[in-house]
Amino acid sequence: MKVKRTNKLRLRPTKEQEKVLLSLCEMSAVLWNKVNYKRRQSFFAGSINWDTSSEYEEFKRIIGAATAQQMIRKNDEAWRSFLKLLRLKQKGKLPKHVRKISPPRYWKDRLTGRRKLLTVIRNDCYRIVEVGNKKWLVFRGLRIRITGDIRWRGKQGRLEIHYDDLTGRWYALQSVEVSVNRAESAKRAYADLGVVNIITGWVEGERQCIAFSGKPLLADWWYWTKKISRCQSQLKRVNGRKTSERLRKLYRKRRRRLRHAVNTIIHHFVRLCFSKGVGEVVVGDVSHIRENNDKGNEINAMIHNFWSFRYIIERLRTTAENFGIKVKLVRENGTSSRCPWCSSKNVKKHKRLFKCLSCGIEAHRDVVGVLNIARLHGDGFNGVLAHPSLLRGEEGAEVKADVAPMSVMPSEARISRL
Ligand SMILES: [Zn+2]
Repeated sequence: MKVKRTNKLRLRPTKEQEKVLLSLCEMSAVLWNKVNYKRRQSFFAGSINWDTSSEYEEFKRIIGAATAQQMIRKNDEAWRSFLKLLRLKQKGKLPKHVRKISPPRYWKDRLTGRRKLLTVIRNDCYRIVEVGNKKWLVFRGLRIRITGDIRWRGKQGRLEIHYDDLTGRWYALQSVEVSVNRAESAKRAYADLGVVNIITGWVEGERQCIAFSGKPLLADWWYWTKKISRCQSQLKRVNGRKTSERLRKLYRKRRRRLRHAVNTIIHHFVRLCFSKGVGEVVVGDVSHIRENNDKGNEINAMIHNFWSFRYIIERLRTTAENFGIKVKLVRENGTSSRCPWCSSKNVKKHKRLFKCLSCGIEAHRDVVGVLNIARLHGDGFNGVLAHPSLLRGEEGAEVKADVAPMSVMPSEARISRL
């Protein structure tokens, strides 16, 4: 199976090379803005003018025919995805995570007036040269030192070069088409996503579910959120501004730390599935979670502000793919209000605890969620413990099946009825 992956490389241009990169990116942004202006004007007047032949003719002399074509194509893509969302909105089918849709923006910062510095190099217009452990990017007569691992090797796609104005660094994103092998195994794992436990999973045949706690992530996220709000109020008080470089850096730091922690957990979970010979992970679709209002204020605020289950699902899909494991999304209707052991709806829920009044089992709520997914979308389960073993997501942490169960929970209830 062919999949798309991205190599992120850092460019180390000399002063002279940097000047060339700057002007190339500047002019690419000018082209983007021109094409975008035409399309915005015609869009608001009633119908989009797709014709870009005059812009192409003008810019192929300045930035080269291939890059001019790539930039126009990139703008095409942005408009097409905007129109697609617009059609979904008109039908009332807009995905829940999309809160606001707007036409593609200009590549210009409204406050500073600076252009966004980015350009696209067509797949047949560049080469990456490796000599020993040194690497260079060769294009347009330039030979720029690059650093960073070439993680993915395969058929090379386009290369995007951009300047990061927060760090003052140049990066290149290379898209690569690689083939991954599919595991032939019919063995499945089931996963339930959440906030308190990021992933609760169960692998067919195992006696216990595993859970990866989201608490350290939450604590870290709040730490940075407080820093952000202090910085915001200071900015407002001192110079009446809404944003600054420091503030943007804090936002970025918060997002990166969170994503890194999530990625580590996902990697850990997928590696565990891989070591158990799993061929498919069945995941409950959690897009309804935003409407769920029975959580505390803090968690609610967080879910609305940043929590992106889509991000987690996409990462899970990609990471699993790398291990040859399929990911299947399933509806999660009512998985938390039915007892997975006896199918009774006569249940009580309190915080993280679940109690079935029919069969008497007391279980951890996330275990109930994941076992219900297994009941509905698999061959069922047998003799699984009602509480998960809690794993840490940190890199290098040993995976221990005998980690103490969550302290807030009553002692492990064994299922003797089944
Ligand atoms: Zn029951």
